[in-house]
Amino acid sequence: MPKYIFVTGGVISSLGKGIASASIGKLLESMGLKITLIKCDPYINVDPGTMNPFQHGEVYVTDDGAETDLDLGHYERFTNAVVGKDNNITSGKVYFSVICKERKGEFLGATVQVVPHITDEIKSQIKKASTGKKLDVVIVEIGGTVGDIESLPFLEAVRQMTLELGRCNAINIHLTLVPYIKSAQEIKTKPTQHSVGKLREIGIQPDILLCRSEKNLSKEIKAKIALFCNVNQDAVIGALDMETIYEIPLIYQKEGLGKLILDLLGLKKTNGELKEWKCGVIDRMRNATKVTTIAVVGKYITLQDSYKSIYEALTHGGIANDTKLQIIKIESEEITKHGAEKSLKDVQGILVPGGFGHRGIEGKIEAIKYARENNIPFLGICLGMQTAVIEFARNVCGMANANSTEFNKKTPYPIISLLEEQKKIKNKGGTMRLGAYGCQIKKGTKSFSAYKKEEISERHRHRYEFNNKYRKIMEAKGIIFSGINPQKNLVEIIELKDHPWFVACQFHPEFKSKPDRAHPLFREFVKAARNK
Ligand code: GLN
Repeated sequence: MPKYIFVTGGVISSLGKGIASASIGKLLESMGLKITLIKCDPYINVDPGTMNPFQHGEVYVTDDGAETDLDLGHYERFTNAVVGKDNNITSGKVYFSVICKERKGEFLGATVQVVPHITDEIKSQIKKASTGKKLDVVIVEIGGTVGDIESLPFLEAVRQMTLELGRCNAINIHLTLVPYIKSAQEIKTKPTQHSVGKLREIGIQPDILLCRSEKNLSKEIKAKIALFCNVNQDAVIGALDMETIYEIPLIYQKEGLGKLILDLLGLKKTNGELKEWKCGVIDRMRNATKVTTIAVVGKYITLQDSYKSIYEALTHGGIANDTKLQIIKIESEEITKHGAEKSLKDVQGILVPGGFGHRGIEGKIEAIKYARENNIPFLGICLGMQTAVIEFARNVCGMANANSTEFNKKTPYPIISLLEEQKKIKNKGGTMRLGAYGCQIKKGTKSFSAYKKEEISERHRHRYEFNNKYRKIMEAKGIIFSGINPQKNLVEIIELKDHPWFVACQFHPEFKSKPDRAHPLFREFVKAARNK
């Protein structure tokens, strides 16, 4: 049976519990342990797939086709864990399951209650994610901030599991904020004391405190936190703000977190090495001298989290090409208002990401036209590919008003149309073409020089697709259909013959990029941009 680490957060939201959990995972893997990670989200949606990116940020898609919280992206980027539908547990999923069981009569005679029925379901879903996987440690991140009403059943389940498994098999790590107050020139420990007090009211005594802080914590401060929060002094870990998130595992290692966890869980001590991570990721990031400017033209631009994996994958492309990246975020409606030239004249690469709905489409099309006509390296993703072929149809093939039927049902040229299997689907939750599908790459193309193989697998999240009726006409005008799904003959990648680097894909390559293994398309896109 695996050991469990429960990660909770206190004081404020956005402290980076996801990155903290992923970094703990990285640290344990470096010590030879096999791990997985689970995210518990207290909202009632069954999954985040039906939420607007402004509400939730990016929806991260796994190989098995689950639409999940963006923290699962951090888990896969930092560690070798392959996460899927069982690794994201929401209140909605838990309640849905309990209510279905109640209707079937599985609790016949009983009053169905939060404790024990909901908490038992949470515990069983947490255990299910590791069943049959021969894991050493499961890291369970509890979303929300201690003190929220919503996350109480999850915390109660954590309390019960900690008790049932025993101290050597389950530990609690609490991520908290230790603010520096400028006017007093002092570091304040009170918010952490209150947060731990709140946790103890619920019955959870943290074993380790990860203290986010902009200043180094002195010995005295650590001793004070330890005394008031009832933890050992060496269990007060300073989590200093870092320039890049990928440095966090190194900070934790320096603070002795890996050894401490192994001690508490009674696991054999090994000396963790993060040498490759340090040389291959951190040093390369620091030593890069060039700067490459990439514009991301999207419609949820004001929220950093909306395109999380895309920004990360671009960073990975920068690491692979020894260049720093300056990412310019452009709201596509701005391009409709002021023209593409104004926003894009100084950039070295243009990326158009995925999205849904009509707003912002015309601005994306103008940005793509600008990239095509001015030989600026271009990467289109999902809706970015769909708008790229619409632009080509309109402006190169002379098909005025060409469009996707998602935006104009009556377009004379439905270049993008609903996937056949989608036509009968009514429900919105979890019903897109989701998850990993195979793709055959044409030799001699830019896609082939990126992947260096003919068969690949990539993750999808869409309902609309290139309309094969237009393949021949567009090919004659200079589009190369360089990636095709062989089972359904669907267009997966397009590129342009007469352009230095113009590639667009129906799938989401950003979900499979890692800091030390940049995704081939991001690597080659950033390379083309860097060399421009
Ligand atoms: N809205 C488009 C579709 O459903 C694109 C989706 C996306 O970009 N993820 O096909």
